[in-house]
Amino acid sequence: MVRVPRHLSILATMVLFLPIAAPAQSSPAAKTSLLLITVDTLRADRLGCYGARRVETPAMDALAQEGVRFANAYAQVPITLPSHTVILSGMYPVSNGVRDFTSSGIPPSVGMLAETFKRQGYMTAAFVSAFVLDGTWGFNRGFDTYDDHFDARQFETRNPGSIERRADATVDRLLAWLKARPGGKSPRQPFFVWLHLFDPHSDYNPPEPYRTRYAGRLYDGEVAYADSQLARLFGELRRSGEYDHALIALLGDHGESLGEHGEDEHGFFVYNATTHVPFILKLPHSEGARRVISQPVGTIDLAPTLLDLLRLRDPIRGQFQGSSLASLALGKPPPAERPVYCETYYPWSSFGWAPLHALVSRKFRFVEAPRAEIYDLAADPGETRNLIESRRSDSEALRAELQNLERRYAAPAAAAKGPPLAPETVEKLKSLGYVAYSAPAAPPPHSGLADPKDRLQTFKSILRATDLAATGRVGESNALLARARAEEPKLYLIPFMLGENAARAERWNDAETQFLACLKLNPTFQQAVMGLARVYIAQGKAPAARPWLELALHENPRNFLAWHGLGLAARSEKNLEEARRWFTRAVEEKPSYAPSQQELGIVLVEMQRYREAIGPLRRAAELGPESAIGANYLGTAYTNTNRLQEGIAQYRRALQISQDYAIARLNLAFALLKSGDRTTARREFQTLCQQGSPLCREYRSRFE
Ligand SMILES: [Zn+2]
Repeated sequence: MVRVPRHLSILATMVLFLPIAAPAQSSPAAKTSLLLITVDTLRADRLGCYGARRVETPAMDALAQEGVRFANAYAQVPITLPSHTVILSGMYPVSNGVRDFTSSGIPPSVGMLAETFKRQGYMTAAFVSAFVLDGTWGFNRGFDTYDDHFDARQFETRNPGSIERRADATVDRLLAWLKARPGGKSPRQPFFVWLHLFDPHSDYNPPEPYRTRYAGRLYDGEVAYADSQLARLFGELRRSGEYDHALIALLGDHGESLGEHGEDEHGFFVYNATTHVPFILKLPHSEGARRVISQPVGTIDLAPTLLDLLRLRDPIRGQFQGSSLASLALGKPPPAERPVYCETYYPWSSFGWAPLHALVSRKFRFVEAPRAEIYDLAADPGETRNLIESRRSDSEALRAELQNLERRYAAPAAAAKGPPLAPETVEKLKSLGYVAYSAPAAPPPHSGLADPKDRLQTFKSILRATDLAATGRVGESNALLARARAEEPKLYLIPFMLGENAARAERWNDAETQFLACLKLNPTFQQAVMGLARVYIAQGKAPAARPWLELALHENPRNFLAWHGLGLAARSEKNLEEARRWFTRAVEEKPSYAPSQQELGIVLVEMQRYREAIGPLRRAAELGPESAIGANYLGTAYTNTNRLQEGIAQYRRALQISQDYAIARLNLAFALLKSGDRTTARREFQTLCQQGSPLCREYRSRFE
């Protein structure tokens, strides 16, 4: 009888259950690590390798020198969230369901590249620099590490769209991860790392010396600064010997209009300024170096290209809608050339105006709009002369192709929804003034919508109102919004922004009225739903906040801020067990959100579950910012688990942050007493009395 060692027989059984295409580790190509870099808001023409003369981008230029550069690459959507969804899923927005930033995240049925690499035995890690790419949208699926930590203070002072992390901090985190990887020296496990830098996105605020060197054109300064951080990363990879072996892909998620066509930033139109992006592939050992490809390509083509270059067979290929560019990159016969698709639904979903669709061929850009446009790209790269009258047949051909493409892919994946709302919640919402519940987002009608180019002034005055409010000029912002409202009474963003302005000034009743008016126009607008919850929590009206939070979770069950809000509501009603449950849920969704970690720890201390409280309170302290309250509670957790000296240190930390924090000082005095240091205990208590705290009289007898 042949004896099979037990662990081997288990292994043999398991192999049978692996998908046939799975363990590609055995193929040499699969050992190649992949670094995907997306630089936000990056116009192609700001890179030296794309012809820029006045912006220093040596790191990206060197990458292009050692790699393959696609001269005519276009983003499918000029908006961060949907554009990254295209890049990481290989599907068009009409299929992956993420068309703008009002959706509830990436549907679970949409596969993501990181899941593929994880299946294929790669270590997977992502380092993102904007809250817009928070993991809870679904981007963290398949990543072992998803580093999307932002300073929690930004959540109080900035709108979610502008919460960011500077490139140096994000690159630091990535470098730390590279160093700390298990496996020691080679051969290491291959990695798939996605790095996202946000700096060129507005506000344009580069650090020195870029601020001075690029005075008057700070957008360029941000690009140069981002490049300097990539130089740091590439330098490290060269030192560790991994640069040469790795496949490195770099692309922009969209460009920036910088005033072209009257648009300052991006998202509203679909011209070159916001859709033409850098797209560079550095192959292992610089194969195909200096190759420049002029065939028009899309960022949607990246995913199948990567899998081909790395020779990975994986079920995700079934969902890809772009074409592999591997043969182009390797100098082999190219696939059939086809025009590239672009769209923006922002004018529709945020303003009720017509969405825009475009097709870009080698020769033309055709824009489908209530008043269609076509531009000759060679003669008029700035797209300033609409040739729709003289180019009828070219327009018709591109229009027909556009319609074909949309018909072919129009089967959106079903969004993840939370559990249905309880009937009593619906009743409560109605009694609070909510008119419609779960109205499905209707597709735009085929005619009768305003052309975005005819609404540019309204659009700009709304953006201007946002800027004014952000810089504290709320009165001017309100006046501008009131004028815009008279012109566009159905525009739900206007009451929403008036609500935000009122909330900022703590005019709660006004904020409530405006948010409700917004929801009357757009019943599923999540930010207004969360705005109402915030208004009630701020006033201590937990029962009124709860149904709104439940509504938000129904739309997006991964909304950690809504779970956090439910925790605050429960805690304000002294329902500690319920609060613990909700804060735990918030922490599960978003471990790097310090306020939820801290609240969870505080509730556990209040429940006298001191040992369990230590973990979340310590994580909150590590994540920052410094919190006197957090330190005080951590002190209490320590002193009640026989870690007296650590407790004393935490109370001292609380007092360092907030000198006249009376309870922390009293706690410190008691802890010192318990430790036997009566002299110092009395001295601290004396300080408490000198500070005039009423606790002095109450506890005097204990310190005499
Ligand atoms: Zn972006």
